Amino acid sequence: MASTHAPAPTAEHVRSAHRVTLLGALVNLVLSLVKIGAGLLAQSQALVADGLHSLSDLLSDVVVLLATRYGRQAPDASHPYGHERIETFGTLLVAGLLVLVAGAIAWEAIGRLQVTGPPVLLALALPVAVVSVLAKEALYQYTQRAAQRLRSDLLVANAWHHRSDAISSVIVLAGLGGVGLGLPWLDAVAALLLGGMIALMALRLGARAVAELVDTAPPEVEREAMRGAAEQVPEVRGVHDLRARQMAGRRLVDLHVEVAPEISVSEGHRIGHEVSRRLRRGFGPVDEVTFHIDPVADRTGRRRARGPQPPLRDALFAELFPDGLPQDVRCLLHYLDDRVSVDLLLPPGTPPPLVTARRPEWLEEIRVWQRAER
Ligand SMILES: [Zn+2]
Ligand SMILES: [Zn+2]
Ligand SMILES: [Zn+2]
Repeated sequence: MASTHAPAPTAEHVRSAHRVTLLGALVNLVLSLVKIGAGLLAQSQALVADGLHSLSDLLSDVVVLLATRYGRQAPDASHPYGHERIETFGTLLVAGLLVLVAGAIAWEAIGRLQVTGPPVLLALALPVAVVSVLAKEALYQYTQRAAQRLRSDLLVANAWHHRSDAISSVIVLAGLGGVGLGLPWLDAVAALLLGGMIALMALRLGARAVAELVDTAPPEVEREAMRGAAEQVPEVRGVHDLRARQMAGRRLVDLHVEVAPEISVSEGHRIGHEVSRRLRRGFGPVDEVTFHIDPVADRTGRRRARGPQPPLRDALFAELFPDGLPQDVRCLLHYLDDRVSVDLLLPPGTPPPLVTARRPEWLEEIRVWQRAER
């Protein structure tokens, strides 16, 4: 087995991502306070719902900040695979919280639809909603630009979240517009719509986090593509047991690479590293590849059922060569299908060693090679 992985993101990268997220959190903090306050004063349920939405966004910003702080720590003795799943667990927490928020918003809105409440104070609610739309759209533009510069998927997701927040404030505006046109129930309908939007987003986030936490495999097409890329290496005879799982933005892949049976350990290792390099280069999120090298006779040859295994080198020599081996002899052992072939490479002029008369069951053949005189 061997394992390789790509370099970690630079400190500069992490700092920039942090700055963008911090700014977003600050805007969310101000917006949530203003919207909840103004919504309560103006009796606009949709505005309060939007404010609660901003509050939950602030919470998810905090999770993102904590996750980039703790989730990006280098692997250590107690977490040898890294700490990225802290981020995933945080996402699950935020998703659960959002579902609760959405439920509360919907509950309130449904109650409001049944009894006509006090009139909405448009002069206060409307400007706040307009400011919210503008602030969120500006945040979208800013975050999207940073995400492109830093090539960060987390930031892209964050940017689109800002835009969906802008849309949610547009819905509030529409509801308030309805109130202005003499349809007061539109405020509650807008709140209900927001609750549905939040719940949908939360369920999607939560489902993805759970899928990752239980190590759900990537889609079949993706696994096939990875297998195909590995088999592109000419020295690879086949690939089996390819597995992949996700850890936040990283993908971890392990696979068995089938190679010609009599190549050396170092050549097998070299081939494995080439497979690993291609997977990491060809598949963006693939970051760590662990490979296992399997010797196979040909592409179609299936391995026999496992019987008792032949002995390792020292015990095998003791059994095969009762008088020992001559000095300076090089010996290659090929363990295939529960049997061993032995290649002996003798120095010029050295006579072949005495081989035991009791041929062991696991012995395929002994081939003796003599180095040519120079
Ligand atoms: Zn290696
Ligand atoms: Zn949001
Ligand atoms: Zn295997």
